Amino acid sequence: MGVAYCIDDVFVSPGREQLQPDQVQTELQRFSRACRLTTGDLQALQRKVSSQFGEEEAAIFRVHEAIVHDAAFSSKIRDCILRERLSADAALHRVLGEYTTLFSRTRDSYIKERVSDVRDVVLRLSAHLSEVLQPESPALPGPLVLVAKELLPSQVVVLGKREMIGIVTQSGGQTSHAAILARSRGIPAVSGVSGILNQVRTGDTVVVDGREGLVLVNPDPETESAYRKLQREFFLLKDELAANRDVQPVSADGQPVELFANVNNLADLKTAAAMGASGVGLYRTEYLFLTHRDVPDEQEQYQNYQKMIQRSPGGQITIRTLDLGGDKTVPYFGRRREANPFMGWRSIRLSFEHPEFFAAQIRAILRAAGETDDPSRVRIMFPMITTLEEIRRVRSMVRRIQRELAQQGIDSHRVPLGLMLEVPAAAISIDTLLSSVDFVSIGSNDLVQYLMAADRDNPKVSHLCQPLSPPVLRLLNSVIHTCNHYRKPVTLCGEMAGAPRAFVLLFAMGLRSFSMSPAFIPTIKELTSHLTRQRAAEVLQHALSLKTTRQVNRYMADQIAQIAPNLRLLDTA
Ligand code: PEP
Ligand code: MG
Repeated sequence: MGVAYCIDDVFVSPGREQLQPDQVQTELQRFSRACRLTTGDLQALQRKVSSQFGEEEAAIFRVHEAIVHDAAFSSKIRDCILRERLSADAALHRVLGEYTTLFSRTRDSYIKERVSDVRDVVLRLSAHLSEVLQPESPALPGPLVLVAKELLPSQVVVLGKREMIGIVTQSGGQTSHAAILARSRGIPAVSGVSGILNQVRTGDTVVVDGREGLVLVNPDPETESAYRKLQREFFLLKDELAANRDVQPVSADGQPVELFANVNNLADLKTAAAMGASGVGLYRTEYLFLTHRDVPDEQEQYQNYQKMIQRSPGGQITIRTLDLGGDKTVPYFGRRREANPFMGWRSIRLSFEHPEFFAAQIRAILRAAGETDDPSRVRIMFPMITTLEEIRRVRSMVRRIQRELAQQGIDSHRVPLGLMLEVPAAAISIDTLLSSVDFVSIGSNDLVQYLMAADRDNPKVSHLCQPLSPPVLRLLNSVIHTCNHYRKPVTLCGEMAGAPRAFVLLFAMGLRSFSMSPAFIPTIKELTSHLTRQRAAEVLQHALSLKTTRQVNRYMADQIAQIAPNLRLLDTA
């Protein structure tokens, strides 16, 4: 429950509050400072991108720098601050709006697209502005609920700087990256609420019920107090469960399970340790790139991996190579517009197209791992593997780099290599891929979207993109059996690992290793302690006989209520 803070698509608050006359000079200085810092970033980007990727890829940042220095652009903004006494943020919002209208009138698609460059520049400027908040920014009382059209992963830089207790977005689904980010911070979020920005104004009181997917605006006193009560119970239960941090996760009939954390940065490691994770099961390295001012080179990456390894619980970590594309883009990888970005040039496919860059990432990880006492605790996995050729190609790259490192005295050959199972084609032929890898990690967020042909970001098809749908359960059951049959270590690191209903079914399928947003670990640990193999097997057998997702969901809600009645508040569809 908090105060709404509505923002537009470049993270700028369109607030219209006028500055006091004596604040105008400070605001102009704030804007100049943001321009200087942005120019510095863009110049560093040009240098690094041209040396790592080439001149052509760096050209875009020269264009961006030119926009910052464009006299018309900056004088428009200064004018808004000076004459209309708008804040720099509001002035950016206004000017971006003008450019968007202007560019949309042209038929020339090249020029039309240039508005996205202006938007990129505005995003950078606004990130720098938010570092130095206005001296007397209109103080919104209490904790903030962010209300936005959409949240892009590249905007996390800004998100991290403001304290949020809830997020509501018009677009996105349960497993879109913005939702995952919110979850990893334990922030309740509801996405896919169409028209929300027409119904909420900055300053409204908002209740975000992430369990039911509800958003209440300016609730009446009775509703508000009912929610306060629910909130107290919820936090009490979470605190109680978190107290089990040092208890090993074991089922009621003595089956140990491993509960790992999905993390995106160093800060997440603290949460992972606080929640009692056995280690890190998924480090999404693309966030290092998405949140970096320019582009991290091999040495910077190496330093980051080194710290991540040292600070992971038990020094155990699975590092995933760059998974960009889809909804996560950085401009220096080129080509930004695709008709079907999730089916296109993303993830490992993109890494293959920049072999030197890909090699630098692998080398940075292997160097950091090779220095540890036990390099086998650092695992590398490759996202979106579709064919055997791809995994062979990756292996031969890794072997070559390992040989080079060995000549420098760095022994990294014990680092296990794994594939992420996210594409149905690979899932169907998993038996033919297993002998080429040391482990498998099921990326169910993508596997579900590709199997169901339903975009994980599109709220219109979220009824299809469901992990508890019968076809998904059948496929997972078969994949887990195959991996166990060949004694190949298998983990699941999609969001469903932390959902009680899915967890029971996965446990019954024979899965014993799970990686999830750290906030869910205490709940799943508690659930495990109520489970036996026998009971889980009965539940799975019945669930597999059901024909619709709705039936599975109803049945599982019922089962959770019986198996672990104390977790009622934490069970969601
Ligand atoms: C997945 O697809 O399940 C996964 C864990 O990767 P990501 O969510 O980063 O795509
Ligand atoms: Mg994925």
